[in-house]
Amino acid sequence: MNGQHQLNDLIRLDGVIGDGNIYSSAEDMLKWDQALYTNQLISKESLAEAFTPVKLNNGQTHPYGFGWGISNNGQTVSHTGSWVGFRNSIERRLDKNNTIIVLTNGNNGIARTVVNEILNNKVPSIPYTELITNIQLIDGTGVPAIKTSVRLQNDRILEIGNLIPFKQEVVINGNGLVLAPGFIDTHSHHFGGLKSNPSATPTANQGITTITIGQDGESYAMDSLVDFFKRNPVAVNVASYTGHTTLRRAALGNDHVLGIATDTAINLMKTALASEMEKGSLGLATGLEYESAFYSNKNEVIELAKIAAAYNGRYISHIRSEDIHLNEAIDEIIEIGTIAKLPVQISHIKISIKNQWKTAPQLIAKLQAARSQGINITADIYPYNFWNSTLRILFPNRDYTSLASAQFAVDQLFDANQSVLIHFAPMPNYEGKTITAIAKIRKEETAITLMKLIQMAAEFDQKNPQFTGNTETIMGKSMDDQDVSDLISWPQSNICSDGSSGGHPRGHGSFTKVLSKYVREEKLLSLETAIYKMTGLSAEHLGITDRGIIRKGNYADLVLFNPATVKDNASIQNGKALSTGIEKVWINGKIIYQQQKSTGLYPGVLIKRPN
Ligand SMILES: [Zn+2]
Repeated sequence: MNGQHQLNDLIRLDGVIGDGNIYSSAEDMLKWDQALYTNQLISKESLAEAFTPVKLNNGQTHPYGFGWGISNNGQTVSHTGSWVGFRNSIERRLDKNNTIIVLTNGNNGIARTVVNEILNNKVPSIPYTELITNIQLIDGTGVPAIKTSVRLQNDRILEIGNLIPFKQEVVINGNGLVLAPGFIDTHSHHFGGLKSNPSATPTANQGITTITIGQDGESYAMDSLVDFFKRNPVAVNVASYTGHTTLRRAALGNDHVLGIATDTAINLMKTALASEMEKGSLGLATGLEYESAFYSNKNEVIELAKIAAAYNGRYISHIRSEDIHLNEAIDEIIEIGTIAKLPVQISHIKISIKNQWKTAPQLIAKLQAARSQGINITADIYPYNFWNSTLRILFPNRDYTSLASAQFAVDQLFDANQSVLIHFAPMPNYEGKTITAIAKIRKEETAITLMKLIQMAAEFDQKNPQFTGNTETIMGKSMDDQDVSDLISWPQSNICSDGSSGGHPRGHGSFTKVLSKYVREEKLLSLETAIYKMTGLSAEHLGITDRGIIRKGNYADLVLFNPATVKDNASIQNGKALSTGIEKVWINGKIIYQQQKSTGLYPGVLIKRPN
C-alpha cells in the first residue's frame, strides 16, 4: 500500500499455527515431501490411498484424497493454503517426480500462478513494476490535473498516489510534465502502414496508443486481424468495426455494389455481421457517401444496425453527405439510432459547403435535440479545415460530366486555390499542385479541369486494372475555421485523425495540433477537456471499458508530454514531420516511443468489444 510493503498479518484472529503446532519452511517441506516417497513416513499403499479420489455416499467420486486435490487424471496432487498476508502451494506431478513448493508473504494469488508456470515449463512471471513520479496526472475523465505518481505492474496500472519506490524498482521521473492516458483515435486509416512500419511512428509521435479501423465501410475480417497480430507485432493497439461496404461486396458481388441489395443479400450481410460481432467487432461502420455504399437504402443499413445493437455494438458512419444533403444525412443517422436502438457516431463531422458555413450552432442544436429524445448520438472530428479524399466526392450527384455540377463544386464545395492534388497516377507531374494551378497549365476553366481530371483517372483505371495505388486523391479545402472550432467544442465530440501513414498532415499531427492550437494558443478547450476528448470520451464512444482513463486495473496505455511545447509539425508540404513535446508513450506497460524515436518494442494488441 502507498508504495510500501506493509505488515498485513496482525489481525484479531491471528495466532493460527499449523496442524500439530507445526511451523515450516520451503526447505523443511521439501524434506517432508521427499520422505513421502520412501517408506520412512507411510507405506506405499497408504500414500496411494491418500492420492485416490474419495468415493461419496451416492457412489460418485470427488477429486480429493487425504488432504490432496487430485487433477490431471490423477497425475497431479496439490494443496494450497492462505491466511491474511500469506499464500502457499505445494504441487507434485507424480508422473514426472517433480514437486514445487511456493510460500509467499503476499496476498495476491501469485503462488498458484508461479507453480502452474513452472509445471508448464514457462519462466515464472514475477510481477514487474515501474514507478512514474513527479507528474501532473490528467486521468482522462476531465477532472483537473493533480501532482502525483503512478505505479505500473506488468501491462496494467497498479496504483496512483504519493508513492515511494520499492527497492530496486525502475523509477521514471516525469519532470513535472503531464501524464495522460494514451490517445485513442476513433477513426483511423493507419493500419495499412503497420506492416512496413510496425513501430507506428505516425500514431506514436502524436501520443496515440489505440487506433480504430473498419472506417468508411471498409474492414478486415476479425479472424484475419487475429492472424495479423500473431504474425506482425506492432506498437499500437487496434480495434475494428465491421465495414458495411465490405459486407456488401461479399453479398452482392463486386459488379452489383452500385445498386440496391435484395432481401437475400441483406440476410447474407446480417449473418456475416453477426459472426464478426461474436468475434469482437465494435459494431457497424458505413461510408454512405462513397459509391459502393451510396446505393444502399436506409432500410438495409437499419437492418444491419439492428444486428450490431443485438450484440451491444455501435454504429459509426461517414454519413451520406457532408455538403448539399448534410441535413438529410444527419436526419438519416438519427433515424438509424432511433429505430435500431443503438449508439450512433458521426465520423469526422464537418460542414463542407460554403453556403452553409457558420451554421455549426444550428447543427449542434439539432444533435442536442436528438440526444434529449434519448438518441445517443455523438461525433468525432479532426482539427483541420481541409479533407483528403477522391475528386469524385466533389460531385454529390455522381454526374461527373455535368459542367453545371463541376461549376457548383468550384463555387461551393471546395476552394480550388487551396486544394492540392496529392496523387494523380495518369499525370504524376500534377501532384502537389493546386487545382487552380493545374487549370492554368492546361489553359482551361477550373470547372473543366475538374471534370477532365476525373475522366483521365477513370480512363487510367480502365487501362491499368492491375494498378493498386491511389489513382487520384485531393486535399480539399472545404471547411470554415469557426465551424471546426464550434464542432470541436461540442461536448459530445471526441478527437480523431482520419489519418494514414502518408498524405494529409492529420496522419501525423491531429492530436498534437489540438493540444497546441486549440488548447495552448486559442484556449478553446482546457487541457483536461481536450485530453478527455482524446481518451475517456473516446473509449466511451467505442464501448471500450479498460482503457482511456488512468485508474487502478486499467491497461497502462500512457503518454507523457510537455504542455508548454507540444506541437504538430506535419503540413501539406511535409505530411510526415514528427510532432514535438511528446516525451514518452507506453502501450500495455511498455515504452514504445521516446525522444521522437521508436524503442523497438511492439506490445500492441487487438482489442475486442467487451461482452
Ligand atoms: Zn470518412
